[in-house]
Order: sequence, then C-alpha cells, then structure tokens
Amino acid sequence: MSRYFCHEYPEVLVVETRVVEARPGAVLLEQSPFHPGGGGQLADRGVLRWSSGEARVTSIEAEAGRYWHLIGEPVEISGVVQAAVDPAFRSMMAQLHTDTHVLNALVFQRFQGALVTGAQLNEDGTARMDFDLPEADNDRLRALEPEINDVIRQDLPLRYAYVPEADALGERGLIRNRSVAPPPASDGTVRVVEIVGLDRQACGGTHLTSTGASRPVRILKIDNKGRHNRRIKIALVGEGE
Ligand SMILES: [Zn+2]
Repeated sequence: MSRYFCHEYPEVLVVETRVVEARPGAVLLEQSPFHPGGGGQLADRGVLRWSSGEARVTSIEAEAGRYWHLIGEPVEISGVVQAAVDPAFRSMMAQLHTDTHVLNALVFQRFQGALVTGAQLNEDGTARMDFDLPEADNDRLRALEPEINDVIRQDLPLRYAYVPEADALGERGLIRNRSVAPPPASDGTVRVVEIVGLDRQACGGTHLTSTGASRPVRILKIDNKGRHNRRIKIALVGEGE
C-alpha cells in the first residue's frame, strides 16, 4: 500500500499546495490531505480553492501511483491551491472503518479465526462486512452488537507500525482478508493498525485515534450470501435508518 500524507498527519485536513498537472475537471497535487479510498473505504470528499474560485472534489482516481482529484466542473486549475477535506465525511469514514475493525476482531476471536471476504463503507453511515463463516449461528453474530459497543466505551487507543512484508505474512491473522493481502509500500513494509488490547491487522485506511470517538453502532442485519459467506450490515446510531 502507498504511504499517504493522511497516514503521517491524519489530523491535518487543509493543505496549501500546488497543481503539478491538470486536465479539465481533474488535477494532480504536489501534496494532498485526501485519502484516495480503497479496501472498502470511500475516498475523502472536500474542496479545492484557488485564487479565482473553488470546486468540490467528487472523487479520486488512481493512475500509475498518482492520484487525480476529480472536480465536478470542467475548469482547468493551475498554481497554488488550498486542498481541504470535508471533516464530517472523514469523521464518518474513520468511525465506520474503526468499527469494522472492532467487528472483524470479535468475529476473528469468537469464530475460530474466520476471515473477511469483503467490506464496503457507505456514505449513508452504514457498512457491510462479509466473512467466511459457513457454520455460524446468526443469533451469535447478532449478539456481537453489545460487545462492539463495549469496545467503543472502553476507548481503546489505536497505533500504527510498519512491518516487513514477510513478517506480516507470517503472523497469524495480521492479513485478515481471505483473498487480498494489501500490497507493501515501496520500501517493502506493510502498515499495521493496532487497536491496543484488542487486535492487529494490516490496513491502509483512516481510523479514529481511539475507539471512544465513535458513535455507538447497531447491527442492522445478517444475510447468508452463498454457502460460505455471511454478510453483516452495521450502522452508526442515527444513520442508515
Ligand atoms: Zn483499517
């Protein structure tokens, strides 16, 4: 996975920077506070402001390791710009993302190391996770809701480490996705996210600084998707109703 500015400075949401390449409706920036999305997480939203205008950043497009910021109108921007991430959207993604780690950790611990087969965070404050859980009882899965909220209440801190890829592949459960191992950074390391006292796993997303910064969550529903997959849909309380 790439190392992003938002990995090093997750609290910096506004950056003064320069356009390094432009085409109508899209720019490459020298530096960007935007997370480009990936691994089920949506790209940050926000705005670009320049001397004579501003435009919303509607999505980010990765192309050969570079990140085009797409804006909703066909203007061509050059020179100095201010890039500003929408703080409410970032906060919602970080809450949902951190909560999916908590869910994922509890499923891994309670269900014999069951792995993730897919994940998607949504802009309406909901998220789904798919697990390889052929034998699980859905009532036991539903019973994880108060446990997730208990972890949120415990306000466990998150911290990060970059570990060599070979070590990451060798530690049981560190690569939690059944099909996709995150690609290493250019220096051969993998970013590991730890919820202290609960869980460690490789991930390139944005998270809270501690679990207590999340609103409580509800498990909305559990679906059987094929013989092996169980899909768990969660929502931040107050969203997705
Ligand atoms: Zn993550």
